[in-house]
Order: sequence, then structure tokens, then C-alpha cells
Amino acid sequence: MRQVYLDYSATTPVKREVLDEMIPYFCEKFGNPSSLYQYGEDAAAAINKARNQVARLIGAGDREVIFTSCGSEADNWALIGTAHSLRKKGRGNHIITTQIEHHAILHTCKALEKEGFEVTYLGVKPDGRIDPEELKQAITDKTILISVMFVNNEMGAIQPIREAAAIARERDILFHTDAVQALGNVPIDVKELGIDMMSMSAHKIYGPKGIGALYIRKGVVLPGFIHGGAQEFGKRAGTESVPNMVGFGKAAELAMEQLTDHIERLTSLRDYFIQEVTEKISNVYINGGMEHRHPGNANLTFDFIEGEALLLYLNLNGISVSTGSACSSKSLVPSHVLAALGIPVERIHGSLRFSIGDFTTKEDIDYTVECLVKVVATLREISSVSGEKGW
Ligand SMILES: *Cc1c(COP(=O)(O)O)cnc(C)c1O
Repeated sequence: MRQVYLDYSATTPVKREVLDEMIPYFCEKFGNPSSLYQYGEDAAAAINKARNQVARLIGAGDREVIFTSCGSEADNWALIGTAHSLRKKGRGNHIITTQIEHHAILHTCKALEKEGFEVTYLGVKPDGRIDPEELKQAITDKTILISVMFVNNEMGAIQPIREAAAIARERDILFHTDAVQALGNVPIDVKELGIDMMSMSAHKIYGPKGIGALYIRKGVVLPGFIHGGAQEFGKRAGTESVPNMVGFGKAAELAMEQLTDHIERLTSLRDYFIQEVTEKISNVYINGGMEHRHPGNANLTFDFIEGEALLLYLNLNGISVSTGSACSSKSLVPSHVLAALGIPVERIHGSLRFSIGDFTTKEDIDYTVECLVKVVATLREISSVSGEKGW
């Protein structure tokens, strides 16, 4: 049976060129980068190169990129580190973020609320974007941090990051963005955008799992998160995962080389998919706006259908998609992101995220549409016969 992977926003396969770069760092060049002999020097040089590759992708300086174990760690570090250090300095206890963040941000904010921090969760417009005016209004004398994700992982909305960062800077407030979904999918220049801290992850850009990074602008003081040795300029202890860093670096280099083509190719496949689905299936809606959107994201609602049932039937046909974020896909709690868009609960339950990537072909899309047409018809037939939902 044909296997079609349409969940690139959950994770991506490691590209062969990336793996090839990583392999020597397991058995041959296995040294500890802190060691003062050749093995160590080789490993340290590899890390330098990887750091440089990641820095170039986002327009950062070399020493402004600190590797972490994943995107979630980068998010936790940026928020908790800033919150603790600025409260200690008496700068305030208020944080502004959005309702549509990844759980790595939302659950960290909840933990900070338990410590006495106050958090404002901005809503979004029907297109999935925040209103910069609302952000301005939410700022108080106590605001110490604004964290707005760059690109949403469920419905792909690209946020007005430049505007949000400018608003933060005007009031002398630190600005962080979770750019895990943006990296390699939209052009990013941290200097030009005015970003103070930015979270990244390798496994969403065809690199290995278990490695991420936090961009920390020179001049921003963020206390270390993992205490121990002097690795990562003394900011993040722990013997470096050299192969993973090398893989992240190579993935970043490829992403930079291929950015324009990648965006063009994904956009055209995505638009073709949406056009086909909406033409061949009735009562289908696209969630979020089309103008500022991740090039590979199509989040669709199929009326009169349970998303989980559709997902399982598609899986039986070899097609892998998601009901939203991987974290909530095993629970039946309706997506907080689609709820923030103002989509009613029954429609949220009929929603699926299709995310397209570099290995997706037009044939994959055609096969998926063909299956969708059949499965949606079958499921709607069942639900109308059983009358379970009153349709
Ligand atoms: C995947 C993802 C994360 C988490 O990254 P990990 O490296 O898996 O921890 C954080 N934020 C967003 C928007 C993501 O899509």
C-alpha cells in the first residue's frame, strides 16, 4: 500500500545528507569537545561549524546561538529564566503571550502563574493572527516579557513578529518568539525583526530529534538553565550532543540554500491540495487565513465528521495526518488553537491538519484526495443513517 506522510509539522525525516554528516561523530570522531587533545578539538570544531550554520540561517552572531536538548527546553529556558531573573531585579511579574502557543509555552506559563506571575493570553483574529493593538493595550508597568510564537503549529498562521517585537522594544520589554515551525519555512532575520530570544528545533527541519537551540541576543542577560560544566559559553551545561549538533547545522545549511524553492514548492502543493479537496468534497472549510500562512499547512474542517474517525480511516489507507498538535492528539480535548479562532466545538472535532513537506509529491496529494473523497462519503453516510448527531 502507498504510504503518504502528511504530518511534517509533527516531525520530519532526517535528510540523507544530514545523516551522512552526523555518522562520523558517533564511532570515529567521538571525542568530548571539552578535552584538550585532538579528539576533543575535532569535536569542538564540529560544534563551532554547526553553530555557525544555525546562526547564518537566522542572521545571528555565532555566540548568540546556544544549543539545547529540544525546542521545548529553549521555550522553558527563555520564559522561566527571564521571569526569575527580572522578578529578582524588581522589574515586575507580568508576562504576555497568546492563547495559541505550543504547550511548551502554555504549560510553562501555567507553572509560572503558580509561582505568582501574572500572564495575559492574547486572543487571535479569525485569520489566526494577534492584533498588535491588543498587545499594546495589554502592557502594564509590570510587564517583563512578551512571547509570541512565529508560526502556529496547528493552523499555520504567521504572526506579525516585526510589529510585536517593535512594541516590546518601545516599552523596553524583552521579546521572545517560539520559531520552531517558522525555521526553514519563512525567511528569518533576528536583527532585522528585533527579536531578543528565539526558540528553534532540528527535527522540524529534517534534522535529528533531541536537539534545539535558543537564540539569545548579545546584551540580553539570561541566567543558565542547566547547571554544571562550562559548555555553551557557560550558559547550558552538559556534554554536547556532537552528532545532533552537526546534524542540526547541516539541516540549517540545507534549509538556507533551499528556502525559496522549498516555500514555492510547498505552497503550490498545498494550494493544489486545498483546491482539489474543496472542489471534490462539500462542506469543507479551511481554518485560518491564507495570506500569512505556513507554506505546507492545510487545516481543514469536514462538517458532519469526527476528525478521529477520519484520521483512523486515512491511516488504514496508509495516510498519516494529525488532529492538531501531537500533544493533544491522544486526548479528545478540542484544540485550544481552533477554539481561539472562534470555531465551534463540533466543527473543531471535524478538523484535521495536513502538513506537507519536502518529500511530498503531487501523486501523494492525488492519492490523499482520492481517499478523502471515499472516506468522507462513507463516514457521512454512517452518521446520517445512525442519526447519532441529528444530521
Ligand atoms: C515541535 C514544537 C515545539 C517543541 O519542539 P521539540 O524540539 O519537539 O521539543 C515547540 N513549539 C512549536 C511551535 C513546535 O511546533
